[in-house]
Amino acid sequence: MQILDLLHSIRPVWVTRTVQALARGVGVRDDFRDQLERFFDLMEQVVETGDPAWIESILSDWAASLTQSDLEEGQSQIIRLVTQIFDITHQVCMDNLPLAEAAEVMGAVIPCFSNAFEKASQFEMQARVAYISNQLNQVQQTLERLDRSKSDFIAIAAHELRTPLTLVDGYASMLREMINQRGAGEDSSEAMLLNGINNGTRRLRTIIDDMIDVSLIDNSLLSLNFQPLWINRLLSVLELELAPYIDERRQSLEIQDFPGSREMTFGDPERLLQVLRNVLLNAIKYTPDQGKIRIEGRKLPGFIEVIVCDTGIGIDNEDQQIIFEKFGRLGNTALHSSGKTKFKGGGPGLGLHIAKGIIEAHGGAIWVESPGYDEVKCPGSIFHVLLPLRSEPPDDKTAKLFASLVQNKSNQ
Ligand code: ADP
Repeated sequence: MQILDLLHSIRPVWVTRTVQALARGVGVRDDFRDQLERFFDLMEQVVETGDPAWIESILSDWAASLTQSDLEEGQSQIIRLVTQIFDITHQVCMDNLPLAEAAEVMGAVIPCFSNAFEKASQFEMQARVAYISNQLNQVQQTLERLDRSKSDFIAIAAHELRTPLTLVDGYASMLREMINQRGAGEDSSEAMLLNGINNGTRRLRTIIDDMIDVSLIDNSLLSLNFQPLWINRLLSVLELELAPYIDERRQSLEIQDFPGSREMTFGDPERLLQVLRNVLLNAIKYTPDQGKIRIEGRKLPGFIEVIVCDTGIGIDNEDQQIIFEKFGRLGNTALHSSGKTKFKGGGPGLGLHIAKGIIEAHGGAIWVESPGYDEVKCPGSIFHVLLPLRSEPPDDKTAKLFASLVQNKSNQ
């Protein structure tokens, strides 16, 4: 008998046995029977044409219909199925055909099964990879949604908080006027209470402004107001502004005159002051009393680098990136203090994230170097702020506004 006739003769037994062995529920059996009939058809095609690729279509369909739990399970479902079908085929041949013919049929179907094994693992792997990357995409989307809603929440909360704060400020200044009219002095208890209210609202305003800045940066909405500026002048402003805190902590602040610091460049002076203020306030905060803070810098091709060194508690290597992340404050959050310059009085952990956003919006970079964290030995930290030197503002409108300044500079 021809191989195809032999195969044909065992088909009914093969289908019944395979269905009984492999399909569990009665409902499943009908559908599964169709699948097995198709498998057998394709196996016959392989034998008839000598092309093992005929079997691939059903394997690809099986891989596509794997359920989520199949895909989550580590074991290969289709290879297991093909192995079982192979075993049953072998048994049916042995039980229903003389030995020589059984061997002949098995010899004819082996190329079909070896290709089936290879393709089953390939299709199943592709289905698994597609499933996992889909899962990863979903996780990514959820994370992005969460991040967006966090930023939205911050923005809305910040705007909502500003309004009542303005009211408190307004009423406080009306009270101050009434007190002044009554002739009560600055050291009267009413004036002291009012000072307390003013300090509180000032701090609250700073936190709200930081929250708004974070949401502007996270949503790439930070707009810079480019103007001519001189780094040495920004540093002088800060020296004056921070002198009371430096005195209070009995620290020293040394500002070196470095190449490039007296050169005019374009940037947003308010925002750059904010960056340098954040870095300097941190240097004051994380340096013990009587510590030293030094500002130096250098001019590089196309850039100016401001370097702030302190003799403070330092930062571990693994934290040197984290501190620039949103809420990237280190240490014990229970020790949180909103004091501006109190030793180790950590804030909300937004200052450096904002500084990074502002510097990057200028096309620069900010990073820190430190031998590590040690509150006893105080190895110190060195913050680097790298800013592009711009002889012209980036947009035409500002360029027109400052045209004479730019002209004068190029004539020099
Ligand atoms: P915070 O409001 O907590 O000061 P920042 O974003 O300004 O937030 O700083 C993040 C964290 O980086 C701080 O909580 C602190 O742990 C660490 N840090 C920043 N500057 C210094 C510094 N000069 N020395 C040591 N640690 C610092």
